[in-house]
Amino acid sequence: MESVELNNGVEMPLLGFGTYQIEDPEECERSVREALRTGYRLIDTAAAYGNEEAVGRAIENSDVPRNEVFVTSKLWIQDAGYEPTKDAFERSLDRLGLDYLDLYLIHQPYGDVHGSWRAMEELYHEDRIRAIGVSNFHPDRLMDLMVHNEVVPAVNQIETHPFYQRTDDAAFLAEHGVQHQSWGPFAEGQHDIFDHDVLTDIGDRYGKSPAQVTLRWLVQREVVAIPKSVHDERIAENFDVFDFELTGEEMARIGDLDTGESLFFDHRDPEMVKRLGTAERET
Ligand code: NAP
Repeated sequence: MESVELNNGVEMPLLGFGTYQIEDPEECERSVREALRTGYRLIDTAAAYGNEEAVGRAIENSDVPRNEVFVTSKLWIQDAGYEPTKDAFERSLDRLGLDYLDLYLIHQPYGDVHGSWRAMEELYHEDRIRAIGVSNFHPDRLMDLMVHNEVVPAVNQIETHPFYQRTDDAAFLAEHGVQHQSWGPFAEGQHDIFDHDVLTDIGDRYGKSPAQVTLRWLVQREVVAIPKSVHDERIAENFDVFDFELTGEEMARIGDLDTGESLFFDHRDPEMVKRLGTAERET
């Protein structure tokens, strides 16, 4: 598996496995075990997904040693702040059945993220977490976090797919040494991505599917991708993207699909900030 080197020297696989919306514990455990069997070495979960126990069981029951799996989890909004973050981290580790995390992310840029970050910096310095980062941070929020704290986030996990390509964010992240990670690499199926004519046409040249072309386009930009699937054949298909290379012309054709807008929601929308910030604590 190809990897990227984070700003603290830690190696992170370029392609991993996402687990959002795999709520059934058995389905989650089975899918993660299948991903590990296939060769994935990065598993992405979050306190808010409600599946950390199942992810932990899959890792424990797999044949892959713990130190060969890069495990990411995330801190949810209602746990923002210094003390709540320390507690939430212990609860996540407990549910996962692990004694350290490879990557811990602030899931959303809301609430007392500076308090959270100071707690995460301490946990990082205590070797409880190998790298700390953020998710869904626009450049202004990221700059605010960097200016007022010591450790520069290693990763920013943001919505990135052919219809919302984040080229400005990518330039900002590269300039500051923050690794760009895509969530929703398939836009969760929107814009008919799995039958898209441009992606199909390009894929036909290599005997690859639109899903594979999409993932290849991401990893070729050095954007870490974490596709999710509960189907064995798709788990295998999504992993098989390292034996072909897109040309500059093909990359540019995919570049033309960018709408420049989120297909889900804008993290700067006050109504969303209010809705998420006032929701009941779930984790
Ligand atoms: P996604 O990976 O873009 O799309 C998943 C959907 O695509 C599922 O419906 C899946 O169906 C289908 N699919 C997967 N591979 C396919 C293939 N080869 N052919 C046809 N259909 C295929 O969406 P996502 O799960 O939202 O994003 C990926 C990961 O990013 C998440 O799992 C999570 O770990 C992370 N994430 C993070 C955030 C954040 O705020 N930080 C937000 C969203 C997601 P089946 O499962 O039925 O195969």
